[in-house]
Amino acid sequence: MVSTCTYQFDTPVYKGAVTFPTQLFIDGEFVDPVNKGTIELINPATGKPFTRVSVGDREDIEIAAQAARKAFKEHWGLKVSGAARSKMLHKLADLVDANTDNFAALEALNVGKTFLSAKTQDIPTIGALLRYYAGWADKIQGKSVQTTPDKIGFTRHEPIGVVGAIAPWNFPLSTLIMKLAPALACGNAVVAKPSEFTPLSALFLCTLIREAGFPPGVVNIVPGYGDTAGQAIGESMIIDKVAFTGSTLTGRKIMEAAAKSNLKKISLELGGKSPSIIFDDADVDQAVKWAINGIYTNQGEVCIAGSRIYVQAGIYDDFLQKFTEGAKRLSLGDPFSPGTFQGPQISERQFERVMGYVKSGQAEGATLHLGGKRHGTEGYFIQPTVFTDCTPNMKIVQEEIFGPVAAIMKFSAEEGSLIFHVRSITVIHGVKEVIEQANNTPYGLACSVFTKDIDRAMRVASSIEAGTAWVNFSNWPDLGLPFGGFKQSGIGKDLGEDALENYTNVKAVLINIGIRI
Ligand code: NDP
Repeated sequence: MVSTCTYQFDTPVYKGAVTFPTQLFIDGEFVDPVNKGTIELINPATGKPFTRVSVGDREDIEIAAQAARKAFKEHWGLKVSGAARSKMLHKLADLVDANTDNFAALEALNVGKTFLSAKTQDIPTIGALLRYYAGWADKIQGKSVQTTPDKIGFTRHEPIGVVGAIAPWNFPLSTLIMKLAPALACGNAVVAKPSEFTPLSALFLCTLIREAGFPPGVVNIVPGYGDTAGQAIGESMIIDKVAFTGSTLTGRKIMEAAAKSNLKKISLELGGKSPSIIFDDADVDQAVKWAINGIYTNQGEVCIAGSRIYVQAGIYDDFLQKFTEGAKRLSLGDPFSPGTFQGPQISERQFERVMGYVKSGQAEGATLHLGGKRHGTEGYFIQPTVFTDCTPNMKIVQEEIFGPVAAIMKFSAEEGSLIFHVRSITVIHGVKEVIEQANNTPYGLACSVFTKDIDRAMRVASSIEAGTAWVNFSNWPDLGLPFGGFKQSGIGKDLGEDALENYTNVKAVLINIGIRI
């Protein structure tokens, strides 16, 4: 029997009800997990439990993978035209768009992000992603290659088979669709696992997947814990590829599991510690606006968050004052209140983790310039926080905090030298050294540079080891451009045409048209 839940929203920004099954979605049906497991979900804005949904375990992943394999072989993969896949993806996009408010409400309730940011950014992005890859579905093509006069060679880009998609909790549905859309466009079947903290939007999506016409087994969604269901995806002998977004630590585990099982292909979108470098000639108001957006959007729970901000001495005081005023103005509170900019951190564990970094910054000698405290008395809210007087090796400068904590550093660049000012100590660096500081973390996801000098912008953008460089703005991936990290920020690309490479095997076909011997 199908178990459903209904969420009744009676909020200033949304009034309505959303009903959907809370079971696993396998082979086109809503089913109970083999061991009947459930998980209690906590509302991060209150810290209180509000619902239970099913969670799958290793056996359920195996069952889902078998269903996906069967679907792939029998009525998907090379058996369905790209045009037909495109049509289903377009239909799914229309259904998502038609349910924008419902999805936004579920993300706000489950993640703690604001309803309005989900409604205007996250959910429209999902429809756009589905349409973008729907457009590619009938354009997956190889090339012909001139070999020798008596041979014709060409390449075919064939679907890989069964893709395991593992999504994190900060952008639950958009990160899932970032994998699902290109995987399906290329003709793969999918076993997807949302984070144990945020399964609701993925569960609601299941009903729409059915309605969009995808054959049973092509998309399977199994909420579950990372160390059981997630690990089982990495270890499965049936799953041919894992596409993952999450922490670098878990990325390593997936790589290890792939190596120890069937050497499945992997693409990993991992953590970041993105630098913003702001020069004296930048438009200060714009730089402040983007820097605030860069670190405090989505509660700072963003892999590309601009968490290290290097500001040139000539504008440092002005920048810091305006940044501080701007950060003070951000309103924290109910994700369903129209004026709220920042909601709670996702969980108590994440709250404690971020507060641990605040303590470490203080213990290592940085100045806590703003915030650093719990906001309110319930839920997991943390004040927008600013550290100054940071040195390069502090944990708050090196590690991904994934919370609303900015480290602002001052540099001077006169006659080719840059100076880090740290309390009474002044460390002098050349221009090369400040770039080295920006590059001095294990991460390489994104960076931004603010200057009106286009030559300098190009020089700096090309010197930073990062998968994305923004000039005069930040935190703005584009669906048509590849997104993914250098160094320990990942392997492979999401978004754009490049993401298609994750989901196809390239086969070389050679035909002998010469004389037989
Ligand atoms: P994780 O990397 O643990 O979670 C991401 C996803 O991986 C979740 O679905 C998780 O499931 C799953 N997972 C966990 N363990 C395994 C495993 N062994 N095999 C396969 N999948 C697994 O991130 P956390 O939730 O622990 O967050 C910790 C930190 O990671 C954050 O503070 C942040 O620094 C970083 N992070 C980065 C993200 C990014 O966008 N780059 C996104 C999320 C986190 P489950 O949630 O059920 O454990």
